[in-house]
Amino acid sequence: MDCIFCKIIAGEIPCHKVIENDQILAFLDIGPVSVGHTLFVPKRHAENLAVGSVEEAVDLMKAVYTTAPAIMKAVGASGYNLGMNHGLAAGQDVFHTHLHLMPRVDGVERAFVKMHPTQEELAKVAVKIRAEIAV
Ligand code: AMP
Ligand code: ZN
Repeated sequence: MDCIFCKIIAGEIPCHKVIENDQILAFLDIGPVSVGHTLFVPKRHAENLAVGSVEEAVDLMKAVYTTAPAIMKAVGASGYNLGMNHGLAAGQDVFHTHLHLMPRVDGVERAFVKMHPTQEELAKVAVKIRAEIAV
């Protein structure tokens, strides 16, 4: 199947991994709108939540719930936006269910504009987040 997130899950395309469990892979967005912008992705392919299962929706939120504190600590955030572009009309680009977590730092403009970090910059952020998760 020609799905970029399935390829990432299969290890065919690299990612900057944040967490992984049996159901979910979370990795940094390559076009983040804030430092630490993370995508939570169910491992089983489904175009979006509507054609997935309620268990997948719960698994996604569980992963967010358990991982968000470490992401926030790693990037010095005190809040975050959660977002899902569900369907073409909503601007979904990748048709494999994913939830965006966009950390927000006090005093930093809350923009939804993509940044263009280098792979090295993304790798450093992922290392910091994984270090907080490991604590
Ligand atoms: P959307 O489908 O509109 O929710 O957005 C898909 C998101 O996936 C965008 O924010 C992209 O920057 C991100 N993205 C696309 N390809 C990759 C990739 N190979 N690794 C990480 N993030 C990606
Ligand atoms: Zn897929």
